[in-house]
Amino acid sequence: MSHQDLFSLTGRVALVTGANTGLGQGITVALAQAGADIVAVCRSRPDETEHQVRALGRKFHTISADLERSMEAPAIVTRAIDLAGHVDILVNNAGIIRRNDALSFTEEEWDSALNVNLKTPFFLAQACAQAMLRAGRKGKIINIASMLSFQGGIRTASYTASKSGLAGLTRLLANEWAARGINVNAIAPGYFETNNTSALRADEARNRDILARIPAGRWGRPSDLAGAAIFLASDASDYVHGTILAVDGGWLAR
Ligand code: NAP
Repeated sequence: MSHQDLFSLTGRVALVTGANTGLGQGITVALAQAGADIVAVCRSRPDETEHQVRALGRKFHTISADLERSMEAPAIVTRAIDLAGHVDILVNNAGIIRRNDALSFTEEEWDSALNVNLKTPFFLAQACAQAMLRAGRKGKIINIASMLSFQGGIRTASYTASKSGLAGLTRLLANEWAARGINVNAIAPGYFETNNTSALRADEARNRDILARIPAGRWGRPSDLAGAAIFLASDASDYVHGTILAVDGGWLAR
């Protein structure tokens, strides 16, 4: 197989959650550049992403969903297969962060992040894996983890719990499905310029402290995830299971 074929996603269908903006948009466009057709699962319309994917000559379908409701996962995957014929790649990208002191953290702040960041990704992975096995196709599942899959963070109790849980879940699912032709891995982005970090970047002192700690000397941009996403979605990663690939400008190396 040539090195281009190793990384080609031609003929594959990728289901990406939260594809309308930020890292999800960057990953979606990268997968489309590598040849994948896209099923975007979003609660806000992904018009800009759709435009970029179609400009690359790839198909783009949209499923509207609120991912706080994990029990919609089987219906989402059934709908994706109706629209696109099959699903080869799942990117569990949608996520939310709730910031509050642990002493004042509310049940709503806990439940919303755990549901969107951990519970729904599990049930989407389960529904996709069932469909991949039924169809006899190999599959690639990519969870979007975080630096807080490794570190504690501060004022982010539910986010830290969910992203640490997602790292563990990535390893568990890899153990169960590696021999069945499904690769489960995660990407752990460092500090990226998206809506998720606008509060941090607006805080001059936090922004300065974070930048000073990033060896690469800059915040990440969504396009910085392209290589990792294509690698973990393609045949190039066929013997890679249960890894949490940090794309962090060197943050964890400090
Ligand atoms: P973002 O710009 O805030 O995007 C988050 C995405 O998740 C949006 O598409 C959002 O939809 C979607 N989403 C949130 N709640 C949802 C719900 N209930 N139903 C459906 N969709 C929902 O943030 P981002 O930085 O791109 O985050 C993407 C992923 O990367 C998240 O899992 C995040 O935790 C992770 N991450 C980000 C960073 C970073 O530095 N930015 C670092 C590490 C990990 P709406 O647009 O409709 O809200």
